[in-house]
Amino acid sequence: MEPRPTKTGTCVYCGKIGPVTRDHIPPRAIFAKHHRHGLLSVDSCRSCNGSFAKDDEYFRSMLAMRDDVAAVPDAREALESTVRSLNRPQQARLRAATMRNIQPVEKWQSGLYLGRRLAYNVDLTRMNRVVERTVRGLFSNEFGHRLPDDYAVHVIATDQLYQDDIRTMVGIDRVARMALTGGVRRLAEGAFEYAVSPTVDDPNASIWVLRFYVNVYFTALTGPRDRIPTMRRHRRPPLSSPAAPSPPSTASAAPSSGSSPDRSSAAGRPGT
Ligand SMILES: [Zn+2]
Repeated sequence: MEPRPTKTGTCVYCGKIGPVTRDHIPPRAIFAKHHRHGLLSVDSCRSCNGSFAKDDEYFRSMLAMRDDVAAVPDAREALESTVRSLNRPQQARLRAATMRNIQPVEKWQSGLYLGRRLAYNVDLTRMNRVVERTVRGLFSNEFGHRLPDDYAVHVIATDQLYQDDIRTMVGIDRVARMALTGGVRRLAEGAFEYAVSPTVDDPNASIWVLRFYVNVYFTALTGPRDRIPTMRRHRRPPLSSPAAPSPPSTASAAPSSGSSPDRSSAAGRPGT
């Protein structure tokens, strides 16, 4: 359901001036109920705001199903909501698609076989879209103006990287450390934190690190559209979780088998 416009303003996302609603960044649904007061929100036109709901639900579900977030109370509550939502009769098709998407994989860590685990594919393009919007909102909140139209947000999900891809990892690590020197802002203990570092020569270029549920990181850059760096597309299946890379010899056992470059797999705890 689209929220009702409350006043006139400028949409942080598309820049249109007119009736605006408030959009929560990051999406309200990722927070436990008792954390849902005092969240950040920005002006959004009705059309932009109305288009976010499905991606937001997907984002929450994919984060909450990860086994490395099970200890975070906000993630547990999000997982309960996800299960409740999938159990609704009108969600039968989505439920079936989700179940089909969950497959057993061989799990390895540092050359040790850890046995078979359940994993699921994640549409990173969709996940990154939510992070991009969150960064746009945070940018406007932090710097007092919206990111100009000739600037873009480039999002890197840490799960997209291979631990043996040293050059990329070193690059991301440097970027993350630069952002962290700006200080960490905590929105709700354990649920969401972020750090931002502006650059000296361009007020619209900035580096962001976003952390959801303690263990899930995204790095993002804002910069001129024509100068924003493009990441190398990955040829092999990405990590199933940041801490547990598969050795190259078993990489083809992962269900995501590189069929789509924008899909990652994550170790999950479906049905718990
Ligand atoms: Zn808009």
